[in-house]
Amino acid sequence: MNPIRPAAAPRRSRTRFYLWTTGLGAALATAFITFAPSTLSPDSIRASFAGVINPTPGGLGPISPFKLPIGIVAGHSGNDVGAVCDDGLTELSINEDIAVRVKTLLERQGYIVDLLEEYDPRLNGYKAMALVSLHTDSCHFIDNNATGFKVAASQAGTSAEASQTLAACLTNRYAARTGLNNHPGSVTWDMTGYHSFSEVSEETPAAIIEMGFLYLDRNFLTQHADLAAQGVADGILCFTRSEPLTGTAAP
Ligand SMILES: [Zn+2]
Repeated sequence: MNPIRPAAAPRRSRTRFYLWTTGLGAALATAFITFAPSTLSPDSIRASFAGVINPTPGGLGPISPFKLPIGIVAGHSGNDVGAVCDDGLTELSINEDIAVRVKTLLERQGYIVDLLEEYDPRLNGYKAMALVSLHTDSCHFIDNNATGFKVAASQAGTSAEASQTLAACLTNRYAARTGLNNHPGSVTWDMTGYHSFSEVSEETPAAIIEMGFLYLDRNFLTQHADLAAQGVADGILCFTRSEPLTGTAAP
Protein backbone atom coordinates (compact mmCIF):
# COMPACT_ATOMS: atom_id res chain seq x y z
CA MET A 1 0.00 0.00 0.00
CA ASN A 2 1.25 3.41 -0.80
CA PRO A 3 0.57 6.13 1.79
CA ILE A 4 1.26 8.88 -0.69
CA ARG A 5 -1.68 8.57 -3.02
CA PRO A 6 -4.63 10.60 -1.70
CA ALA A 7 -7.92 8.75 -1.24
CA ALA A 8 -10.78 9.59 -3.60
CA ALA A 9 -12.61 12.75 -2.53
CA PRO A 10 -15.89 12.06 -0.68
CA ARG A 11 -19.08 13.24 -2.37
CA ARG A 12 -19.95 15.91 0.16
CA SER A 13 -16.70 17.72 -0.56
CA ARG A 14 -18.14 18.74 -3.93
CA THR A 15 -20.34 21.35 -2.29
CA ARG A 16 -17.43 22.65 -0.28
CA PHE A 17 -15.31 22.74 -3.45
CA TYR A 18 -18.07 24.65 -5.27
CA LEU A 19 -18.35 27.21 -2.46
CA TRP A 20 -14.57 27.48 -2.28
CA THR A 21 -14.13 27.98 -6.01
CA THR A 22 -17.02 30.47 -6.10
CA GLY A 23 -15.41 32.42 -3.29
CA LEU A 24 -12.01 32.27 -4.93
CA GLY A 25 -13.53 33.36 -8.24
CA ALA A 26 -15.17 36.38 -6.63
CA ALA A 27 -11.96 37.33 -4.87
CA LEU A 28 -9.93 36.97 -8.05
CA ALA A 29 -12.48 38.97 -10.03
CA THR A 30 -12.27 41.78 -7.48
CA ALA A 31 -8.50 41.66 -7.56
CA PHE A 32 -8.56 41.65 -11.35
CA ILE A 33 -10.81 44.70 -11.54
CA THR A 34 -8.81 46.54 -8.89
CA PHE A 35 -5.32 45.80 -10.15
CA ALA A 36 -5.65 44.92 -13.84
CA PRO A 37 -2.87 46.74 -15.71
CA SER A 38 -3.61 48.11 -19.16
CA THR A 39 -1.37 45.48 -20.82
CA LEU A 40 -2.45 42.19 -19.28
CA SER A 41 -1.18 39.34 -21.45
CA PRO A 42 -2.31 35.70 -21.10
CA ASP A 43 1.20 34.88 -19.85
CA SER A 44 1.10 37.43 -17.08
CA ILE A 45 -2.36 36.20 -16.03
CA ARG A 46 -1.07 32.64 -15.86
CA ALA A 47 1.95 33.81 -13.87
CA SER A 48 -0.32 35.69 -11.44
CA PHE A 49 -2.47 32.63 -10.88
CA ALA A 50 0.62 30.51 -10.31
CA GLY A 51 1.72 33.02 -7.71
CA VAL A 52 -1.66 32.88 -5.96
CA ILE A 53 -1.69 29.09 -5.82
CA ASN A 54 1.96 28.56 -4.99
CA PRO A 55 3.50 31.73 -3.54
CA THR A 56 7.28 31.57 -3.46
CA PRO A 57 9.40 34.05 -1.51
CA GLY A 58 11.30 36.25 -3.91
CA GLY A 59 9.26 35.38 -6.98
CA LEU A 60 7.65 32.54 -8.85
CA GLY A 61 9.43 29.23 -8.28
CA PRO A 62 8.86 25.80 -9.76
CA ILE A 63 5.34 24.53 -9.28
CA SER A 64 5.05 20.97 -7.99
CA PRO A 65 1.82 18.97 -7.60
CA PHE A 66 3.41 17.15 -4.64
CA LYS A 67 3.00 18.41 -1.09
CA LEU A 68 6.03 16.64 0.34
CA PRO A 69 9.63 16.68 -0.86
CA ILE A 70 11.94 13.75 -1.52
CA GLY A 71 15.10 13.80 0.62
CA ILE A 72 18.45 12.66 -0.79
CA VAL A 73 21.36 12.39 1.63
CA ALA A 74 24.79 12.65 0.01
CA GLY A 75 26.47 10.23 2.39
CA HIS A 76 29.15 11.73 4.67
CA SER A 77 28.68 15.25 3.31
CA GLY A 78 29.23 17.98 5.88
CA ASN A 79 30.94 15.47 8.17
CA ASP A 80 33.77 13.33 6.73
CA VAL A 81 34.89 11.80 3.42
CA GLY A 82 33.90 8.16 4.08
CA ALA A 83 35.95 5.48 2.35
CA VAL A 84 39.23 6.63 0.79
CA CYS A 85 41.24 5.03 -2.02
CA ASP A 86 45.04 4.91 -2.05
CA ASP A 87 45.18 7.58 -4.73
CA GLY A 88 42.90 9.93 -2.77
CA LEU A 89 39.55 9.23 -4.47
CA THR A 90 36.90 9.56 -1.76
CA GLU A 91 33.51 8.01 -1.19
CA LEU A 92 32.21 11.52 -0.51
CA SER A 93 33.05 12.74 -4.02
CA ILE A 94 31.17 9.79 -5.57
CA ASN A 95 28.16 10.17 -3.26
CA GLU A 96 27.87 13.91 -3.91
CA ASP A 97 28.21 13.52 -7.67
CA ILE A 98 25.44 10.92 -7.83
CA ALA A 99 23.21 12.75 -5.32
CA VAL A 100 23.21 15.92 -7.43
CA ARG A 101 22.35 13.87 -10.52
CA VAL A 102 19.47 12.10 -8.72
CA LYS A 103 18.11 15.47 -7.60
CA THR A 104 18.13 16.75 -11.18
CA LEU A 105 16.43 13.62 -12.52
CA LEU A 106 13.63 13.75 -9.92
CA GLU A 107 13.09 17.49 -10.34
CA ARG A 108 12.57 16.88 -14.06
CA GLN A 109 9.64 14.66 -13.03
CA GLY A 110 8.12 17.51 -11.01
CA TYR A 111 9.29 16.53 -7.53
CA ILE A 112 10.67 18.85 -4.90
CA VAL A 113 14.03 17.43 -3.82
CA ASP A 114 16.05 18.32 -0.72
CA LEU A 115 19.75 17.54 -0.94
CA LEU A 116 20.76 16.78 2.64
CA GLU A 117 24.03 16.41 4.51
CA GLU A 118 24.84 13.32 6.58
CA TYR A 119 23.85 14.99 9.87
CA ASP A 120 21.68 17.68 8.37
CA PRO A 121 19.60 19.43 11.09
CA ARG A 122 16.60 19.20 8.75
CA LEU A 123 16.59 15.40 9.24
CA ASN A 124 15.09 15.79 12.72
CA GLY A 125 11.39 15.08 12.27
CA TYR A 126 11.87 15.31 8.49
CA LYS A 127 8.63 14.73 6.58
CA ALA A 128 9.06 13.49 3.04
CA MET A 129 7.60 11.15 0.43
CA ALA A 130 10.85 9.23 0.82
CA LEU A 131 14.33 9.63 2.25
CA VAL A 132 17.20 7.84 0.54
CA SER A 133 20.80 8.00 1.76
CA LEU A 134 23.52 7.36 -0.83
CA HIS A 135 26.78 5.65 0.12
CA THR A 136 29.52 3.60 -1.51
CA ASP A 137 31.57 0.78 -0.03
CA SER A 138 35.21 0.20 0.85
CA CYS A 139 38.10 1.03 -1.49
CA HIS A 140 40.26 -1.82 -0.21
CA PHE A 141 40.42 -5.18 -1.89
CA ILE A 142 38.36 -7.61 0.22
CA ASP A 143 37.83 -10.51 -2.17
CA ASN A 144 36.53 -11.00 -5.70
CA ASN A 145 32.95 -10.98 -4.39
CA ALA A 146 33.25 -7.42 -3.08
CA THR A 147 31.40 -5.94 -6.02
CA GLY A 148 27.79 -4.85 -6.32
CA PHE A 149 25.29 -2.94 -4.23
CA LYS A 150 23.02 -3.43 -1.22
CA VAL A 151 19.96 -1.72 0.19
CA ALA A 152 18.53 -1.59 3.72
CA ALA A 153 15.11 -0.30 4.78
CA SER A 154 14.26 1.61 7.92
CA GLN A 155 12.45 -0.56 10.44
CA ALA A 156 11.43 2.45 12.49
CA GLY A 157 8.02 4.01 12.97
CA THR A 158 4.73 3.60 11.20
CA SER A 159 6.45 3.69 7.81
CA ALA A 160 8.38 0.42 8.21
CA GLU A 161 6.24 -1.37 5.62
CA ALA A 162 6.54 1.51 3.17
CA SER A 163 10.28 1.58 3.79
CA GLN A 164 10.44 -2.08 2.77
CA THR A 165 8.61 -1.25 -0.43
CA LEU A 166 10.99 1.64 -1.08
CA ALA A 167 14.00 -0.66 -0.54
CA ALA A 168 12.51 -3.33 -2.83
CA CYS A 169 11.96 -0.70 -5.55
CA LEU A 170 15.52 0.60 -5.17
CA THR A 171 16.95 -2.93 -5.34
CA ASN A 172 14.88 -3.85 -8.36
CA ARG A 173 15.48 -0.72 -10.41
CA TYR A 174 19.14 -0.18 -9.45
CA ALA A 175 20.00 -3.75 -10.50
CA ALA A 176 18.11 -3.36 -13.77
CA ARG A 177 19.70 -0.02 -14.66
CA THR A 178 23.29 -0.72 -13.58
CA GLY A 179 23.70 -4.47 -14.09
CA LEU A 180 25.43 -4.66 -10.69
CA ASN A 181 24.70 -7.59 -8.39
CA ASN A 182 22.62 -7.24 -5.27
CA HIS A 183 24.52 -8.20 -2.10
CA PRO A 184 21.85 -8.62 0.58
CA GLY A 185 24.13 -10.92 2.59
CA SER A 186 26.58 -8.16 3.43
CA VAL A 187 24.06 -5.66 4.82
CA THR A 188 25.50 -4.53 8.16
CA TRP A 189 24.07 -3.03 11.31
CA ASP A 190 25.49 0.28 10.10
CA MET A 191 22.86 0.10 7.39
CA THR A 192 19.83 -1.35 9.22
CA GLY A 193 20.51 0.86 12.26
CA TYR A 194 21.36 3.91 10.13
CA HIS A 195 21.12 7.00 12.31
CA SER A 196 18.74 8.98 10.08
CA PHE A 197 16.09 6.24 10.27
CA SER A 198 15.33 7.26 13.85
CA GLU A 199 15.76 10.99 13.22
CA VAL A 200 13.18 11.50 10.47
CA SER A 201 9.43 11.63 11.09
CA GLU A 202 8.11 8.15 11.73
CA GLU A 203 5.81 8.65 8.74
CA THR A 204 8.73 9.06 6.35
CA PRO A 205 9.69 5.93 4.39
CA ALA A 206 13.49 5.67 4.44
CA ALA A 207 16.25 3.52 2.98
CA ILE A 208 19.99 3.51 2.53
CA ILE A 209 21.86 2.20 -0.50
CA GLU A 210 25.52 1.28 -0.87
CA MET A 211 25.78 1.89 -4.61
CA GLY A 212 28.90 -0.21 -5.23
CA PHE A 213 32.38 -0.97 -3.94
CA LEU A 214 34.95 1.72 -4.61
CA TYR A 215 37.62 -0.90 -5.27
CA LEU A 216 36.11 -3.35 -7.78
CA ASP A 217 33.27 -1.09 -9.00
CA ARG A 218 35.44 2.00 -9.28
CA ASN A 219 35.19 2.28 -13.08
CA PHE A 220 31.43 2.02 -12.98
CA LEU A 221 31.03 4.56 -10.15
CA THR A 222 33.39 7.10 -11.73
CA GLN A 223 32.66 6.57 -15.44
CA HIS A 224 28.94 5.76 -15.29
CA ALA A 225 27.66 7.93 -12.45
CA ASP A 226 24.78 8.85 -14.75
CA LEU A 227 23.61 5.22 -14.79
CA ALA A 228 23.96 4.88 -11.02
CA ALA A 229 21.91 8.06 -10.55
CA GLN A 230 19.28 6.86 -13.02
CA GLY A 231 19.05 3.57 -11.12
CA VAL A 232 18.43 5.37 -7.82
CA ALA A 233 15.94 7.77 -9.41
CA ASP A 234 14.13 4.84 -11.10
CA GLY A 235 13.86 3.13 -7.71
CA ILE A 236 12.39 6.20 -6.03
CA LEU A 237 9.92 6.73 -8.88
CA CYS A 238 8.93 3.04 -8.69
CA PHE A 239 8.01 3.71 -5.05
CA THR A 240 6.25 7.08 -5.40
CA ARG A 241 4.27 5.81 -8.41
CA SER A 242 3.47 2.41 -6.87
CA GLU A 243 4.95 0.64 -9.87
CA PRO A 244 5.30 -3.16 -9.89
CA LEU A 245 8.71 -4.79 -9.53
CA THR A 246 10.10 -6.24 -12.75
CA GLY A 247 12.33 -9.12 -13.80
CA THR A 248 14.08 -11.43 -11.40
CA ALA A 249 15.91 -8.86 -9.28
CA ALA A 250 13.07 -8.58 -6.75
CA PRO A 251 14.30 -9.52 -3.25
ZN1 LIG B 1 29.46 5.66 3.59
